Amino acid sequence: MTVSGPIGEFELIERFFHRTTGAGVTLGIGDDGALLDLPRDRQLVAVVDTSICGVHFPVGMDAADVGFRAVAMNLSDMAAMGATPAWMTLALTLPEADATWLEGFAHGLFAAAGQYDVALVGGDTTRGAQTVITIQLLGHVANDAALLRSGCKAGDNIYVSGTLGDAAAGLALVQRAADETFLSTRFRRPDARVGLGQAVAGVASAAIDVSDGLYADLGRILDASGTGATIERMDLPLSEQLREFAGDAAARQMALTGGDDYELCMTVAPASDADFRRAATQAGVPVTCIGKVDQEPGLRLTDAGRPVNFADPGYRHFAGSTGPGDD
Ligand code: ADP
Ligand code: MG
Repeated sequence: MTVSGPIGEFELIERFFHRTTGAGVTLGIGDDGALLDLPRDRQLVAVVDTSICGVHFPVGMDAADVGFRAVAMNLSDMAAMGATPAWMTLALTLPEADATWLEGFAHGLFAAAGQYDVALVGGDTTRGAQTVITIQLLGHVANDAALLRSGCKAGDNIYVSGTLGDAAAGLALVQRAADETFLSTRFRRPDARVGLGQAVAGVASAAIDVSDGLYADLGRILDASGTGATIERMDLPLSEQLREFAGDAAARQMALTGGDDYELCMTVAPASDADFRRAATQAGVPVTCIGKVDQEPGLRLTDAGRPVNFADPGYRHFAGSTGPGDD
């Protein structure tokens, strides 16, 4: 639409966002809509995520990190569906057309998209009071092979990929100062588990990506599946860096409730357990069993086998809380 100032809207798109496009793109940026060819026998998977400056990322965060992260959040949703990402559109609202910021942003955006050959095929550019980035990612999955939240049954094992809680600590570091340690990188440059999602599609019984915190996100699988579960606090996978930063007890708390990790939480029927572990090994991603699905509704926590009282609803945009988090 309209961005006034030294760079016009057309020039802005040409200069920063118009790149050679990828597989399945009959028509990309430049017309009123994009034309995309879905591979045969595949279902279209559509996800969308918005990042608002001051809500989803701190004011002043490096532009390249903002761009990378906005794509990675969407890649993570695609991963949780077991799907292959292919195309994206970008709706960008900016207070001003700052060429330096735009160059950095585009660099990070295409760095994340390029990991999976995702082509930017369109978008919309507007001027507004604050920076708002909405990316719609389109992908595909074999017919009826998508990983859903609703598939788990009592007796299934619960796994998580990688380590949890790092991004929550990383956010605190990003907010304090420019920081490029392991923890802050976990917040700034999430490594969406796209390969793992694809590898365990058809093997895992349910999956979700951990964006709002494990406790809240696993709860969503249980609600969708009409089951409950018990997880063991001592089994939560923690990085050495998080333990050193926060100490063991706080690290476990962050692993349970901290958002933005973009790891996958997956459930697996006992009969598929060996296949699941093999698929994860092949995908090159460590997975840890943290508990079991059962029939009693709700999510229970144990600490070295002893029941612990615990409740955490996760981040809610309209529940009166403020501060970074996601949906
Ligand atoms: P229209 O007025 O028809 O919606 P626009 O002027 O908004 O067209 O956009 C012109 C072309 O540029 C379209 O193909 C649109 O998809 C693309 N586009 C606009 N903004 C962006 C952006 N931020 N990133 C990528 N493509 C964009
Ligand atoms: Mg438009």
